[in-house]
Amino acid sequence: MNAELSDCLRTIFPGALETDAATRAVYGYDNSRREAMPDAVVFPSTHEQVVSLVRACRAHQTPLVARGRGTNTTGASVPVEGGIVASFERMNRILAIDPANRLAVVEPGALNADLQAALRPHGLFWPPDPTSAPYCTIGGNLACNAGGPRAVKYGATRDNVLALRAVAGTGEDFRCGTPTTKGAAGYDLTRLLIGSEGTLAVVTEATLKLTPLPRATRTLRATYTNIEAAAAAVARIMAQPSTPSALEFLDSESLRLARARGGDAVPDAGALLLIEADGDENALGAAVDAISTAARGEGLIALTGASTADDVAALWAARRALSPALRTLSPKKINEDVVVPVSRIPALVAAMRDLSQRYALPIVCFGHAGNGNVHVNLLPRDEAELARAEECLREVFAVVIRLDGTLSGEHGIGLAKRDFMALAVDASALALMRRVKSAFDPDGILNPGKLLPPP
Ligand SMILES: Cc1cc2nc3c(=O)[nH]c(=O)nc-3n(C[C@H](O)[C@H](O)[C@H](O)COP(=O)(O)OP(=O)(O)OC[C@H]3O[C@@H](n4cnc5c(N)ncnc54)[C@H](O)[C@@H]3O)c2cc1C
Repeated sequence: MNAELSDCLRTIFPGALETDAATRAVYGYDNSRREAMPDAVVFPSTHEQVVSLVRACRAHQTPLVARGRGTNTTGASVPVEGGIVASFERMNRILAIDPANRLAVVEPGALNADLQAALRPHGLFWPPDPTSAPYCTIGGNLACNAGGPRAVKYGATRDNVLALRAVAGTGEDFRCGTPTTKGAAGYDLTRLLIGSEGTLAVVTEATLKLTPLPRATRTLRATYTNIEAAAAAVARIMAQPSTPSALEFLDSESLRLARARGGDAVPDAGALLLIEADGDENALGAAVDAISTAARGEGLIALTGASTADDVAALWAARRALSPALRTLSPKKINEDVVVPVSRIPALVAAMRDLSQRYALPIVCFGHAGNGNVHVNLLPRDEAELARAEECLREVFAVVIRLDGTLSGEHGIGLAKRDFMALAVDASALALMRRVKSAFDPDGILNPGKLLPPP
């Protein structure tokens, strides 16, 4: 970092600029386990500081990487070209909760779970529910288009945001969207920024669309002899009109691992569906009946309501603990979050079985079946398996594209999947994306190296 930029940052961020190696190292890695050293870390607390920061970075042609809490899995917040990391942990206020208009206005560093806790007394929630909610930020959720189990009924981040305030890579600040639930004034920049991984603009404020908390929830557990039977049941459940509020699946290997965490609440079977329905008490019975009918079919072992709150909690805890548990088993696991049309899940699962055998590599599948969003985990246990896993990955994506799916349902692209983008997005769409990037960030200072493959 040159002396002029350093002086400039000191003026913009009194007491909120760190350049020592230990701090820079802490802010240089993320949950992808990749790392790179930034030149400095700043901690904005106002919109105006972010405007000055982007302008200073542009004037000095210095990369700028926005950072929430570094929980993303793709290397999206790693400063691969050095430069400045802006950590939003101090810009974390909930500015307004407006029940009449069903919206909340938040700063990007607010944690997802803190927002949900603040909304609960108002009988409202914000639907995006990543498993990492206690320690990921709204800014990170926006940038990755995060989602979770409830996305099957309530949508992911992109479906639940009304408006944004942001600073483009040009240094221009702007507002987009409206606080209303309808709006038809021009291009939808709000939806464009969501999922753009901090490569177009830095978000400084978000107006979020809220939903009333359901009055009642019922949880069902369906076990099947094999994953194909469970996948067929998912397709039947999604083809009928009562949309579940969660529809998760675990294959046999996931169940074995989940049992180690969740004990007897997690059954031993070829596959399990964890199904949740929510709504008004008086309508819920009919919805549960309709979903249960669809869940029955060839290969069903048992369909039961989770009998106690403790059972429900244990099932969800085991499901949520799976991802970290797999990391223990295989520290270099490759966790993909591919998506296919729901009716193609059986074909995807069968293809993963085949790849697992051909590459002699454990592959575990679980995830948000209702969205066709499957966490395909390749679990190499040594260097030879790791080499095979990397080779296998291209075939995983090729299968997904052949099944009309795409690379990521919620984790995003970052560095990890950047080089596979040409498989999922056709050449002319990719060229348009590059031109969009140039319009927002002509000098390429915002989160360089992420999302778009090199031309
Ligand atoms: C155990 C675990 C479970 C997870 N479960 C899920 C899950 O169920 N669903 C899911 O979707 N994800 C999940 N994730 C991934 C991760 O939590 C999400 O991607 C989350 O949205 C990242 O938020 P963050 O605050 O950590 O952002 P970071 O990881 O710090 O950053 C992510 C991206 O956001 C950008 N960014 C951050 N702030 C801003 C800003 N103000 N303006 C512009 N860009 C910004 C960064 O540059 C980067 O590109 C999980 C992660 C872990 C570790």
